[in-house]
Amino acid sequence: MSDLRELYQEIILDHNRRPRNFGELGDANHQAVGHNPLCGDRIVVQVRIADGRIEDVKFTGAGCAISKASASLMTDAIKGKTIDEVHQLFGDFHRMVTSELDTMPPVDRLKKLAAFSGVREFPTRVKCASLAWHTLEAALQEDHRLVTTEA
Ligand code: ZN
Repeated sequence: MSDLRELYQEIILDHNRRPRNFGELGDANHQAVGHNPLCGDRIVVQVRIADGRIEDVKFTGAGCAISKASASLMTDAIKGKTIDEVHQLFGDFHRMVTSELDTMPPVDRLKKLAAFSGVREFPTRVKCASLAWHTLEAALQEDHRLVTTEA
């Protein structure tokens, strides 16, 4: 278990040092801004959705190591997935960082996102780890609104 903890720590440090998908997404068709005032994390998530699938996603912003690593791992995890799959993954992630161990979703679904399983012990860090996901969710909901007004 301590080996696993070290591995998880490594993943978070690595993604904080070298965040993936960091920068502006020029041809994004959905975006949202997220802010975690408790820690000062601020993030912009930009998504390009085509045929109900995340074709590309990038993020910008500034924040603590947890929030940055979480955004980096999230963008890696959702690229190419359908909106339904993304909602499912967010559900799994949310359960993992807020629930007790016995209801933890399977690691084979979460893959590297399981690196954040330790934050449940630190309630203020849960908000840092979830910020990117809530911001993504907001971006996807904006999508819904646009679709319904144009229909
Ligand atoms: Zn933070």
